[in-house]
Amino acid sequence: PIYMDNHATTRTDPRVVEAMLPYFSEVYGNPGSVGHEYGAEAHTAVELATASLAAQLGADPQEIIFTSGATESNNLAIRGLAERNQRRGKHLVSVRTEHRAVLDPLERLVQQGYEVTLLEVERHGSTRAGWLDPEQVAEAIQDDTILVSVMLANNEIGVIQPLAEIAAVCRHSGVLLHCDATQAVGKIPVSVRELGVDLMSFSGHKIYGPKGIGALYVRRGSPIVRFSPQITGGGQQGGRRSGTLNVPGIVGMARALELCIDELPTEEERLAGLRDQLFAGLQERLSGVQLCGPTLDERNPAGDRLRLPGNLDVAFGDIDGEAVLIEMDNLAVSSGATCSSHEPGPSHVLLALGLSEDLARSSLRFGLGRFNTPAEVDSAIKSVTSAIEKLRKLAG
Ligand code: PLP
Repeated sequence: PIYMDNHATTRTDPRVVEAMLPYFSEVYGNPGSVGHEYGAEAHTAVELATASLAAQLGADPQEIIFTSGATESNNLAIRGLAERNQRRGKHLVSVRTEHRAVLDPLERLVQQGYEVTLLEVERHGSTRAGWLDPEQVAEAIQDDTILVSVMLANNEIGVIQPLAEIAAVCRHSGVLLHCDATQAVGKIPVSVRELGVDLMSFSGHKIYGPKGIGALYVRRGSPIVRFSPQITGGGQQGGRRSGTLNVPGIVGMARALELCIDELPTEEERLAGLRDQLFAGLQERLSGVQLCGPTLDERNPAGDRLRLPGNLDVAFGDIDGEAVLIEMDNLAVSSGATCSSHEPGPSHVLLALGLSEDLARSSLRFGLGRFNTPAEVDSAIKSVTSAIEKLRKLAG
């Protein structure tokens, strides 16, 4: 089948696999064992990869903490910060459309006596559907607010949030800002300095790198970002996250980001072109196609995109997205009927936009990526069209 579910994960680029291979078989030392050559070589590889990752994101190498992925990074940022700063306050601010890897740690904090405000976004039908107004963040901040957490790009509707403006609001109020940038890194230009975030999560497997590796950026300098480690043990990474470093994963993630950044200027345009071709094709052949999230060509006043170039989320109204997936045996996409296999019921993101449960259930999410071609888009249009026509006919 044609793979168009690149928000869920991506194929590891063969060039990334090639860069990783020596670190399984030849350079297999523990980077913590610097007393001998095996360890020293692995240590050097980690240092080089960290320097490359940091440089690509406008950070310093000391500001990068490696984790097992963005879920762990989000947990470390949110729970680690809340635990450490509870004497200063117990209020956190986030958004209804965040990934579960942010919402669940927040829910857990609520069970432990913290207070969480979840902000609303622009409603379905608006040209900026899903967008968070920075003014809302300003209004939500209280004297006891210790952290604001806002994602950069949404994994379902691709909306890109105004993080630099939100960071200005947070800085003005003296509140720290965490950003889940898992879907944005490598897809649009991302610089921690330009965004002004204090903490930022990202992951290897969304950028054509390996699964099971991610990182948390934690800003150095004043004011100091204090957090409690969530995984303790051997004291690796300055005690901020213990555990033997995943050397092949780190090397792979760094190589993956280099490739993304090299190709970004042409890839952004190419993917936006494919995505527009897909939407136009579906609209032409099917009735009742509704776009979920911001208008495809929407830009902010500075001219930046408001939507990830490879993202399309559409609702069809009268059919079940899950049934469409079953009907199509040659196309891999996902449905807003179940936003993840662990979340029963329609996507919380689409419900937050104001879609009815039925409309949310009728949606499909496409994530176009590096390996997709115009011919694949044509074939996807045909598959979706024939599946939906068939289901509509059956429903009479
Ligand atoms: N945050 C966002 C926005 C995501 O899209 C994902 C991926 O599903 C995650 C976090 C979790 O990332 P990981 O699979 O690396 O834990």
